[in-house]
Amino acid sequence: MARALAGTSARILIVERGDFVPQEAENWSPEAVWKDLRYRTQERWVDSRGREFQPYTHYNVGGNTKFWGAVLYRMRREDFKAMQHRGGVSPAWPLDYEALAPYYDRAEQLYHVRGDSGHDPTEPPRGPFPYMPVPHAEGMEAIVQQLRDLGLHPSPLPLGIQRPGEADGCRLCNTCNSFACRVHAKSEADVVGIRPALRSAAGRVQLWTNSCARRLLTDGRGRRIAAVEIERGGEIVRVETPLVVLSAGAINSAALLLRSASDRHPDGLANSSGLVGRRYMAHLATMMQGFHPLKMNSTVFQKTVAINDYYLQGRKTPHPLGSIQSQGRTHGVMAQTVVPWIPVGAYDWWVARGVDWLVMSEDLPTSSNRVTLTGDGRIQLHYTPNNLRAHRQLVRETKRILRRLGFPLVVKHSHGARNTTHQCGTLVVGTDPTQSVLDPFCRAHDVENLFVVDASFFPSSSAVNPGLTIIAQALRVADHIRETELKVEIENPCRVRLQAERV
Ligand SMILES: Cc1cc2nc3c(=O)[nH]c(=O)nc-3n(C[C@H](O)[C@H](O)[C@H](O)COP(=O)(O)OP(=O)(O)OC[C@H]3O[C@@H](n4cnc5c(N)ncnc54)[C@H](O)[C@@H]3O)c2cc1C
Ligand code: SF4
Repeated sequence: MARALAGTSARILIVERGDFVPQEAENWSPEAVWKDLRYRTQERWVDSRGREFQPYTHYNVGGNTKFWGAVLYRMRREDFKAMQHRGGVSPAWPLDYEALAPYYDRAEQLYHVRGDSGHDPTEPPRGPFPYMPVPHAEGMEAIVQQLRDLGLHPSPLPLGIQRPGEADGCRLCNTCNSFACRVHAKSEADVVGIRPALRSAAGRVQLWTNSCARRLLTDGRGRRIAAVEIERGGEIVRVETPLVVLSAGAINSAALLLRSASDRHPDGLANSSGLVGRRYMAHLATMMQGFHPLKMNSTVFQKTVAINDYYLQGRKTPHPLGSIQSQGRTHGVMAQTVVPWIPVGAYDWWVARGVDWLVMSEDLPTSSNRVTLTGDGRIQLHYTPNNLRAHRQLVRETKRILRRLGFPLVVKHSHGARNTTHQCGTLVVGTDPTQSVLDPFCRAHDVENLFVVDASFFPSSSAVNPGLTIIAQALRVADHIRETELKVEIENPCRVRLQAERV
């Protein structure tokens, strides 16, 4: 959003509660990332039973994209329509694939997405990818051939990585997913969005780091945001601005609106529907590993193939099951987090002989899966996974496939209800203000000058990774803001004012 609006007349202040992630040796250290949790927030949230946990989330410039796997999928055309699942109905979006397709094109260009169309049976209509796919390593190429022999349709994973093989480019290393890229070759929001926006706009874009937005304050009528209250350098400052774009992530954006409750908005800002924080989704995800005691896995960059044959319909069921994707290599210390008393040497031996996969299914939006605040203002996450029968079926299918590939043992692990990495859906878009929080351009129904552009607008979670859809919608909303808000501002320049005052 910042990069898309950087060349306009707008003066933009980006408020980020974290700092830049330094480029340092620890970026690629499994011990630093998985044992010391060096880059994760120290914040504690509570679950529905009031138990504390450290969420798997990161507060820094670029947000969670800094640590993502950069698997950048378009949602399938069917994902935008209502779809019957085993566990219920996945609701329709108020926009269709065709509305987002030109923005997916731009998002793929911006994020250097590599792929090859024509292999994936669920692929929506599209032109060629802007960049060639990452070639499979020898071991993965053999697996791809075996998958084809089984009658499946393996396809290259769409990946946002830059200049692989070139001197300053991606080194196709084994510390990508969940790590920050030490050489800045991963396409993520810090490198692709924020830094270019700051460079390009000759002072019109400013970034405040270590600055946490606490509340959005409305004017007397309660229809517009008058100021944002920000905690910065031990002080509370108030920033007045004609337009606010909230992009704190699905959980924090909902929490911020709930914290912004006032006399005019006693249940939280933008919450006349009562839906702020509700319909939280996070995907059903299981990590699986095919293991062979006598076969070393020599692949370094493993994350290149997907199997979407069961995405829309299972082998034995008419219902959708989800996506199967090869994963980055597991490291011994990562595996040790599951059962810490087993020595890391044993895990190292184990993971050296395994091929890793991520199995992902859609979870469905329900009113009771939601974000609330505790009495002392902390985030409380109420989440009971649903559509589990479909996910279990996909896990069984994956196990069957891995056995047929020649792995005598298949192990699996899931972070379950506390996996917040694919959080979405807490401030849903729609045309009916009683059934949604945001309109289809992500403007709050109740607050004229508030847009929310992050994962919270999703009406359903689909079963592909959410990032590219968030980016595409941000570009679409940026165009909408250019056409509506910025024209108004230019006609009325005295309103273009950014004023900070200590309170
Ligand atoms: C390990 C990992 C791997 C992933 N892999 C993939 C993948 O391969 N493909 C994919 O599509 N998705 C992936 N995801 C998910 C993806 O990263 C998220 O969907 C995406 O980052 C969500 O973007 P967002 O803008 O909604 O929120 P975030 O990326 O969480 O950004 C929110 C930002 O707001 C800041 N913030 C929060 N509250 C405040 C406040 N009160 N004041 C000021 N600043 C605030 C945060 O510090 C952060 O910078 C992965 C996530 C993780 C953690
Ligand atoms: S070098 Fe490539 S594979 Fe390694 S972290 Fe960076 S983008 Fe990922």
